[in-house]
Amino acid sequence: MPKTTNWREQMQSVVGAKGYTSDDDDMAPWLTDWRGRYTGAASAMISPASTQETAEILRIANEHAVAVVPQGGNSGMVGGATPDASGQSVILSLRRMNRIRTIESEDQLVVCEAGVILQNLHEALAAEGLRFPLTLGGKGSATVGGLVSTNAGGTQV
Ligand SMILES: Cc1cc2nc3c(=O)[nH]c(=O)nc-3n(C[C@H](O)[C@H](O)[C@H](O)COP(=O)(O)OP(=O)(O)OC[C@H]3O[C@@H](n4cnc5c(N)ncnc54)[C@H](O)[C@@H]3O)c2cc1C
Repeated sequence: MPKTTNWREQMQSVVGAKGYTSDDDDMAPWLTDWRGRYTGAASAMISPASTQETAEILRIANEHAVAVVPQGGNSGMVGGATPDASGQSVILSLRRMNRIRTIESEDQLVVCEAGVILQNLHEALAAEGLRFPLTLGGKGSATVGGLVSTNAGGTQV
């Protein structure tokens, strides 16, 4: 467990350099929603690469009362993935959690991480002769976590 009392350092030590940025240019594309209606500010963007890292980041955020805004592909239409203007919150980007863990063709079962992009899921399943029917115009950006979170429908639901 990190020994520092500084939440930034603690989070950095969990996700490493690849998973942490507070650089304005790095964060800029993720501070405005897809339609350009909402723009916020964030004190950092944290990108965990595993469930364990995500859990640890949330533990630290909870301990230090840091507000967290989960974000997948940022293709939502209602600003839910955009932090508010205070600059106090962190974006929790799930995009590095993009592994499809198992495809069980016979049972038609797939287990994947929250950051898997819908189109990638379609392609991986098509390669196994399967079809994942949920689809929508944002499939090249929308992630499984975002789809579940928003109960996204699309054209075939
Ligand atoms: C061209 C286009 C067409 C679209 N068509 C449709 C459509 O037909 N039907 C439809 O329903 N939507 C549609 N959408 C909207 C959007 O694609 C869906 O809402 C999609 O589910 C958002 O996924 P995302 O990964 O981009 O989520 P984001 O936009 O990143 O986040 C959306 C919400 O989910 C939360 N969230 C994201 N990931 C997680 C996670 N891992 N854990 C917890 N919370 C999370 C965010 O905090 C936010 O509140 C469309 C979008 C585009 C751009």
